[in-house]
Amino acid sequence: MSHKDTTWNQNKAEQIIKELRQADQILVGIGGGFTSAAGVEPLPLDKSLSRDQYWPFWLPYIDKQRLNKDVPVLYQQLAQLLQGKDYFIIDSNADGFLLRSGLEISRIYKAQGDMARVQCKDNCCNQSWIGKQHFDRLRQEAEYLPVCPSCGQPLVMNVYAGKKFCDEPYLEKNEAYFRFINGSAHNRLAVLELGVGYTMPELIRFPFEQIVMNHKRAKLIRINTNHPLCVEENNHKAICVGADIAQVLPALLEVAAKGGK
Ligand SMILES: [Zn+2]
Repeated sequence: MSHKDTTWNQNKAEQIIKELRQADQILVGIGGGFTSAAGVEPLPLDKSLSRDQYWPFWLPYIDKQRLNKDVPVLYQQLAQLLQGKDYFIIDSNADGFLLRSGLEISRIYKAQGDMARVQCKDNCCNQSWIGKQHFDRLRQEAEYLPVCPSCGQPLVMNVYAGKKFCDEPYLEKNEAYFRFINGSAHNRLAVLELGVGYTMPELIRFPFEQIVMNHKRAKLIRINTNHPLCVEENNHKAICVGADIAQVLPALLEVAAKGGK
């Protein structure tokens, strides 16, 4: 690890806005640190629950984080920052706020699933379904247990929690994500990483470092309270900020507003 300067100040804000302005394309990675900064409670996905406890435990989370139409202000600020840009977002969170923030849904890849969908616990058929009819019934019938139409095992949220995750609904976006990256080869690319730590670094953090390393015209902008540093090879191509995203985004918008177009 390097001794790169990770302090947050006005100069950094101006550098970042300049990069975002000059970029032809912006690749965005959203991790758990972003949702925390937005005030969204992390999902206790490792919690062990019996089949009867499962839905009573998760349904309130689905209501609060997926079906809720009140989008935290941080998501709205991100949408404002990316407005009018050619961007693509990979999101490791299962909540629905990004999808409701005003950003274009065709440009958002929910790599770890979506709480609005359900799948077989064993993923026997590699299929997933919109959960709404089950959620509605669960709210009315205390005893109701949704089961897989193929094998009869309980249905669970279509959210990554290990090897049995059904990724089928997200493959198309996965392809769009790689098309976006490959298509950027000759462009000026800003790689904006927000709150991606070491919970699952192989999904966003490590690939982003690799992309920046291999891309002649890429710049990494990493905002992360606890792990702001980048690998040494990317030091000259990175702006690293060790500060709270909830403090950084509004300041960026302020600089952007002052600077005109
Ligand atoms: Zn099944």
